[in-house]
Amino acid sequence: KLHNTIQELRGNVRVFARTRPFLPSDGPCTESAIVCDVDGVSMRLKKEKEEVAFTFDRVFSPVTGQDKVFDEVAEFVQSAIDGYQVCLFSYGQTGSGKTHTMQGSGNGHMRGIIPRSIEKIIDECAKNREAGWRYSLQASFLEIYNEVVRDLLAKKEDAGKPLAIKMLEKHGGVTVPDLTTVTINAVRDVEGLMDRASRLRSVASTDMNEQSSRSHSVFTLYLKGVHDEQGVVLEGRLNLVDLAGSERISRSGATGERLKEAQAINKSLSALTDVFNAIALKHSHVPFRNSKLTYLLQSCLSGDGKTLMMVNLSPTIESTGESLCSLRFAHSVN
Ligand code: ADP
Ligand code: MG
Repeated sequence: KLHNTIQELRGNVRVFARTRPFLPSDGPCTESAIVCDVDGVSMRLKKEKEEVAFTFDRVFSPVTGQDKVFDEVAEFVQSAIDGYQVCLFSYGQTGSGKTHTMQGSGNGHMRGIIPRSIEKIIDECAKNREAGWRYSLQASFLEIYNEVVRDLLAKKEDAGKPLAIKMLEKHGGVTVPDLTTVTINAVRDVEGLMDRASRLRSVASTDMNEQSSRSHSVFTLYLKGVHDEQGVVLEGRLNLVDLAGSERISRSGATGERLKEAQAINKSLSALTDVFNAIALKHSHVPFRNSKLTYLLQSCLSGDGKTLMMVNLSPTIESTGESLCSLRFAHSVN
């Protein structure tokens, strides 16, 4: 484990903020509520006549492309190759660019962190093979909706079946015993997986976009590197998490299913906040068990794991309130 010595000195959580550009759907382009400074680490949110300033490990402006974002994320992917438990989250209100950041679109320059991570892993593993390493790479894809875990790569007959998270006796880690894992040999294998996952998602909901903004999705890559001569085995894991929209859903307006969804999202995002805060403040008890998401990811969030929180922001004035909530969350994590 050669990398990230600086990271070890500074704790295991990094926070990046990314503001998306204005979209035609935002209406006539008005002034941006967010100003990114040229130093690449600070930004300001305009709030009426005031400005609130924030500093993060990286700040990406609306013109920063997927390639530049990935350049800064690459070291986390490298850590997974080196045998670490790594977790990258994309956080923010619906429409702020979470899925664009994680998944992106197409297979050109708009592709996001998931396909780029796999490309990097496949490249690096090919290089290391010359030095005597053998690798296996597997993937799984699940969603957590209303605190229920579902396999997004399940066979047709198992689609929608709730999955249990089990504690491992040996290491204190957790596992999802019935989760489908698929061997990845090439980048294009993943395109097929994404299609399969979105078909499964649409089975459960008439409006896929709507449901996907109310569930967390967790794409996991399991890497195993074996060096026979040296007798070394490295087992790393990269979790790429597209979180449910963080917007405050008004309790008064929501009823029935919507209210239940809103409560489940609020519960799990605040459980995530509590876990980060407990880790940042070095509390002896970290409340991993308060949500499925934190329970599932506890080994990445604690101990030797590495975490990146990517906070996505919309530049519109109407989003100022939600942006401030997201930035405060990001600041508390840092
Ligand atoms: P979320 O997943 O947070 O709900 P999306 O990723 O779906 O948001 O983004 C909303 C819209 O904005 C999509 O049409 C997406 O393509 C576009 N978008 C988001 N971020 C960017 C960006 N950095 N550059 C260009 N388009 C973006
Ligand atoms: Mg999305």
